[in-house]
Amino acid sequence: MTADPDCIFCKIVAGEIPSETVHEDETLTAFRDINPAAPTHILIIPKNHIPDNNAFSPEDEPLAGKMFTLVRQLAEKEGIAETGYRLIMNTGPHGHQEVRHMHLHLLGGASMNYPMG
Ligand code: 5GP
Ligand code: ZN
Repeated sequence: MTADPDCIFCKIVAGEIPSETVHEDETLTAFRDINPAAPTHILIIPKNHIPDNNAFSPEDEPLAGKMFTLVRQLAEKEGIAETGYRLIMNTGPHGHQEVRHMHLHLLGGASMNYPMG
């Protein structure tokens, strides 16, 4: 497991910062966003410290598939599979990425008829 001691999401993975975890397995963790922008707002992250999509390597490719399967499972659990949802991954300054540990936002439970950030 690669971790950055200064990274808030690595601290969540390590259990050093509490979070409302909704899923955990060998490679991924998912928890509710502390400042939800929708009724369902879950962050799905790799446990390894991958700062952003620019650092995503071919060896990480299985992770991406697992993330999308987890999205489907979480959407079903949250009851938003049928009504739909929005997935967002911000990258870098122009993407307004605030936490430099790659994460996928799963937003739903209301119509996402507004832009984010
Ligand atoms: P970004 O702007 O980097 O795409 O999104 C970062 C997200 O992380 C924001 O939606 C923010 O509310 C959330 N966040 C930041 N710090 C924490 C934290 O300590 N716990 C949780 N659960 N979410 C956090
Ligand atoms: Zn990290």
